Amino acid sequence: MSERTSAGKKAGPPPAGALRSLPRVDALLSHPRLAESGLPRWALRTAVRKTLDEARAALTEGRRTAAPTEEEAAALALSRAEALLRPRLRPVVNGTGVVLHTNLGRAPLSRRAAEAAAAVSAGWSTLEYDLSAGGRGSRQAHVKRLLCALTGAEDALAVNNNAAAVLLMLAAAGSGKGVALSRGELVEIGGSFRVPDIMARSGARLVEVGTTNKTHLSDYRRALDAGAAQVLLKVHTSNFQVVGFTQSVGLARLARLAEERCVPLLYDMGSGGLYPHPALPDGPTASESLAAGADVVCFSGDKLLGGPQAGILLGRRRWIGAMAADPLARALRPDKLTLAALEATLLAWQDPEGAWELPVLSMLGASPQALEARAREGAAYLSQAGGGRCRVAVTPVSGPVGGGSLPGVELSGWAVSLVPLRGGVAGLERHFRSWTPAIVGRVHKGALLLDVRTLRPEDWPDIAAALAAYDPEEGRT
Ligand SMILES: *Cc1c(COP(=O)(O)O)cnc(C)c1O
Repeated sequence: MSERTSAGKKAGPPPAGALRSLPRVDALLSHPRLAESGLPRWALRTAVRKTLDEARAALTEGRRTAAPTEEEAAALALSRAEALLRPRLRPVVNGTGVVLHTNLGRAPLSRRAAEAAAAVSAGWSTLEYDLSAGGRGSRQAHVKRLLCALTGAEDALAVNNNAAAVLLMLAAAGSGKGVALSRGELVEIGGSFRVPDIMARSGARLVEVGTTNKTHLSDYRRALDAGAAQVLLKVHTSNFQVVGFTQSVGLARLARLAEERCVPLLYDMGSGGLYPHPALPDGPTASESLAAGADVVCFSGDKLLGGPQAGILLGRRRWIGAMAADPLARALRPDKLTLAALEATLLAWQDPEGAWELPVLSMLGASPQALEARAREGAAYLSQAGGGRCRVAVTPVSGPVGGGSLPGVELSGWAVSLVPLRGGVAGLERHFRSWTPAIVGRVHKGALLLDVRTLRPEDWPDIAAALAAYDPEEGRT
């Protein structure tokens, strides 16, 4: 480590010959390590140039006295080329226990859904081709039939995400009209999705009714009767709860009012399953919302549905047809990977038993007993692999569902707890995070907690390897 030992020395003139003895670009590129690596030429060339630039700078500044050998330089260039090619968007082991973790990509797909997306991605597909007619087909046809059959909807449309679904729904049914919405439902769903802003973009005019904590049916009725509103909108408050002196109007009562006054009722459900399922503790579902009388319901594909990022619109043919015909629909349409994964996800929902194959449902529906058993098994496995580095134990935990779903619901689960015997927990957490694949856990009271709810069987060898490689001295200076 000649770089490190002479670090900080004052720069002197480079030793005679050292610069000249730097390996040449061509020589390095044809070194077997690089030439036979199978890595693309551009990455190897960039890596070799950078490696040589760095060595030259180290010699000139006196941080090194001798040029690296060809063998050393080739090894450095190879790892640099590999780093250049490593995707920035890459898999993570989720030890947070938050199933719908928005920063980690929300719903993990089922194996079948992932395979369906992969199968149509590398070649051509029936995306807009009708095999029986031998001509043009509709990309929506693949999911429309399933969505209608599973929820009782007259018609269905899939778009890029639920924000797009809300925009399209308001543009098609509310543009140029007044849309009545409770002040208690003027929500922000993280980042830049605020209902009033989306409403403004859609060309609809927001008519606020009621107050933050209480809205009555008469508030909506007044807005309609005064001619201020011609559409009713309900938004599920999917990421917060108002407690205390509160009142809101349920979907069924709003639907009766909408029917009496011949106005459409739109419902941004946000998140939910297609129908009630034992794995989902609470919250609205698509079939129940339609049965309650909503004319259009929209929700995310990658929340409790357990599929890919998508927005699902369900409801009356008249309104869904208007949305499909809106020029915005083209701008918001889903791609073939999404549609393939969504179709496979919907097939899993065909019966409640089959839906357990969706990771979101199996993870949310796992019993505390099953999670405890998995935590104990995992802890035993990790003690063997990384014994001597950490105290490995199990601990009960509780946490949210995440992803703007089921606010206030805390799931009881179990975690493996790792407490380093030397060094702080921050170093261990950093080490896990920089491992490949990155392992993300939660630091709590001096321990790194890995919640087993979101860990899959194939994650344990990666965690064990990361633990076995943990060196508390590493990364310190
Ligand atoms: C999550 C959510 C959205 C946004 O959905 P995306 O799929 O993230 O675009 C909109 N409305 C509600 C009520 C939500 O919960």
